[in-house]
Amino acid sequence: MQQPPDEALTPGLYIVATPIGNLSDLSPRAASVLARADLIAVEDSRVTAKLLQRIGTKRPMTPYHDHNADQVRPGLIDRMGSEAIALVSDAGTPLISDPGFKLVRDARAAGHMVTTIPGPCAAIAALTLAGLPTDRFFFLGFLPSKEKARADAIAEVAGVRATLILYESGPRLGAALAALADGLGDREAAVAREISKAFEECVTGTLSTLADRYADAPPKGEIVIVVGPPGEAPAPEAGDVDAALIDAMARLPVAKAAGEVARATGLPRRELYARAMELKDGG
Ligand code: SAM
Repeated sequence: MQQPPDEALTPGLYIVATPIGNLSDLSPRAASVLARADLIAVEDSRVTAKLLQRIGTKRPMTPYHDHNADQVRPGLIDRMGSEAIALVSDAGTPLISDPGFKLVRDARAAGHMVTTIPGPCAAIAALTLAGLPTDRFFFLGFLPSKEKARADAIAEVAGVRATLILYESGPRLGAALAALADGLGDREAAVAREISKAFEECVTGTLSTLADRYADAPPKGEIVIVVGPPGEAPAPEAGDVDAALIDAMARLPVAKAAGEVARATGLPRRELYARAMELKDGG
């Protein structure tokens, strides 16, 4: 949907991606749409006001976030019949771990024009930095914060033959990496931090080395974890795994034995721990 930059926008919904750090990443087309929108639906008006200031414009804004979306959505849908409504999030692409999908769904159902102004997305930016396979990838968003729910969510994707992408916060990074190593095996991974900002970095290693690195040193800033797909090596025979577990358990406590065999075989530590407990109980 291309319109000359100074023409009034066609009524409808404009999904506008905004920078994930470096404000220069706002595209000229995104700036042009924001400057001409009748109304901008925003997560936080202070964040968007800063962006608008950067492009030298002021536009009416209305909050659209998880807590009010159900109440304000019908009004926005009504207005789209005659006005150009832009949707932005605080950073990156709206709808990606951010509100918006129901707005798009309802706008379509109402027959309104819906278009996107694509741009930055932390998940894709991190994938391009990680040096891990990009042919198939699976975006998990944020893992649950509670330990059991997190382990279950990881177990659900353990068999997915794709690179995994997750959003995470600094304080939870070490625990999340350890849980990923437990549930997926010790795969290659990357921690991409502060992408497009002054302290951008991308640290690579296996999940267990990264978990160790961040265990007692939670980093500041915004973070994406990228985990490589499961290895292509044939799975070790069940008898070999049992023998390795029995050998390790003769020297180590069960949890440590499971960890040692996980590192040696690339099998999920969680699975190995369960099997070690069975063996210990005579199974
Ligand atoms: N919609 C956004 C997008 O397109 O990437 C993501 C929104 S989500 C609520 C915010 C999370 O994205 C952060 O907690 C962090 O995991 C990730 N993120 C956002 N900006 C980032 C950056 N500059 N560097 C690394 N991760 C970032």
